[in-house]
Amino acid sequence: MTLRLGVIGTGAIGRDHIRRCTHALSGATVVAVSDLDPDAALAALRVHNPEGRAFASGEELIASPEVDAVLVTSWGGTHARYVQAAIAAGKFVFCEKPLATTAADCRAIVDAEIAHGTRLVQVGFMRPYDDGYRALRQVVRSGKIGTPLMVHCAHRNQSVPEMYGTEMAVVDTLVHELDVLRWLLDDDYVSAQVIFPRATRHTHAKLRDPQIVLLETRKGVRIDVEIFVNCRYGYDIQCAVVGEEGIASLPEPAAVAVRHEARLSTEILVDWKERFIAAYDVELQDFVDSCRRGQLRGPSAWDGFAASVASDACVRAQNEGGVVPIAMPDRPSFYDGDGTGRAA
Ligand code: NAP
Repeated sequence: MTLRLGVIGTGAIGRDHIRRCTHALSGATVVAVSDLDPDAALAALRVHNPEGRAFASGEELIASPEVDAVLVTSWGGTHARYVQAAIAAGKFVFCEKPLATTAADCRAIVDAEIAHGTRLVQVGFMRPYDDGYRALRQVVRSGKIGTPLMVHCAHRNQSVPEMYGTEMAVVDTLVHELDVLRWLLDDDYVSAQVIFPRATRHTHAKLRDPQIVLLETRKGVRIDVEIFVNCRYGYDIQCAVVGEEGIASLPEPAAVAVRHEARLSTEILVDWKERFIAAYDVELQDFVDSCRRGQLRGPSAWDGFAASVASDACVRAQNEGGVVPIAMPDRPSFYDGDGTGRAA
């Protein structure tokens, strides 16, 4: 049976996911949309499905018997209420990051899902679906480089718009590292600190750029993440795990090496959509397949909550300076053994 999807929020990633579900994936069709601007939403859907319809509100879309599962791709501040409505309706829901904008709202979603009794929520953390991160995790878990001691990361964007402020470097950007590093190391964070190096002249008044985030995990691993979102040269994601016996690094995206005029060069990507395009496909195909099977296994509401707890601490560290402790509660057994190695 084809899974009938409803998409709430038809902005940049909502439209990209409608295209993806229609043309790149199998087993699903987008039948409904909802957005603050229902006409624009319907126009975005009709490009792919001439029979699709728009609902006046996300809640009506969720309640519709024509919709089997929901994608929440609206602005972050609206996620919690739509995810809660989907849980109340007993429908599977894929929610783009962040799951909610506060840890308390994420925790309320976790509690509602546990009360429901089965997993209904998948959070849109796509990096665990990226081939490079998967290969890196395999090497780390194989023991080849010994016990991980340190991780050096960088998250660099070419530039960001004026509305992107200092806090967004954590909430919108670092949040991907906060999730993927927990998964990579099978660990949780115990403290965070943020250091502001000399600022680039390419930043603007509301943004301190670059930033270095220092994290410590329960197992004692030390992590540094450079966030540099006006780096000028491209979109560049780096991750190197230093172990007792060696170092394992995230592979660079495949690129043609050009030898020309006494130079050897490879192109650097500039668009995050291109860098993780395959990961988004695999992530959403997994969601579709899981819904059809009746059992989710991707990044969970607990993972969304954990990232939010760490992200709150990093924002405090930005504002207060010094080392901020992170008190992460133990994961409820409800989230054990989800089949991807995600939980265990
Ligand atoms: P966007 O282009 O601003 O799109 C958001 C859309 O949601 C807009 O059309 C907006 O309408 C609409 N909207 C706002 N409030 C709504 C409501 N109450 N009900 C229904 N629709 C509403 O933003 P985006 O870049 O697509 O990002 C959307 C979400 O995806 C964000 O949470 C973002 O963090 C996440 N995201 C994740 C990734 C990733 O790598 N996983 C990448 C990009 C984005 P208006 O324009 O009228 O406000």
